[in-house]
Amino acid sequence: MISQAIDNVTLMLMRGNIAEISADAIVNAANSALAGGGGVDGAIHRAAGPTVMQECRQIGHCRTGSAVVTTAGSLHARYIIHAVGPIYGHHADAAQLLASAYDACIDLAEKYQLESIAFPSLSTGAYGYPVVEAAPIALQTVIEHIGQAPTTLRQIAFVLFDERTFKIYAQELERILRPT
Ligand code: ADP
Repeated sequence: MISQAIDNVTLMLMRGNIAEISADAIVNAANSALAGGGGVDGAIHRAAGPTVMQECRQIGHCRTGSAVVTTAGSLHARYIIHAVGPIYGHHADAAQLLASAYDACIDLAEKYQLESIAFPSLSTGAYGYPVVEAAPIALQTVIEHIGQAPTTLRQIAFVLFDERTFKIYAQELERILRPT
């Protein structure tokens, strides 16, 4: 695990299953129909139980680059923030939409006055976004937000499933914080 203090916020990178994490909000890599699926989405819905899918059905839709909130069912969290990242090779403005999805999550966390949030690596699974391109966008978007205090957030974690993704995020964080 990597833990880095930036202003009043602790930014963490860890390997693991995001459905097992404790945080005020856990971010789901959802699709725009909020219909559930594989990857993070499947893991979160399985662990959270059926009430979360019922809420998703009622909300019905979420634009790419945006996010919606539900309660968190059986997860160790108060809320799930369902964010929809871009599909690589399909959305022309994928980089902007990816940054926008992270921004939308942070805006909701602030709106709900949350102290901790856990992100997966949005779009880098089924949606095909190369991790080497997505990691700098994910980290920079979050770090830029930390620079724009005041913020209720005190802990921001990236929960990365596989070793390769974790390593790329770690290298990118190092590059952003300690440019040579
Ligand atoms: P997307 O459709 O946005 O690409 P995916 O869920 O397919 O979303 O993949 C996003 C990233 O999440 C990938 O790096 C994938 O390996 C990772 N992932 C899959 N399952 C989990 C999980 N349970 N916890 C955290 N990350 C996960």
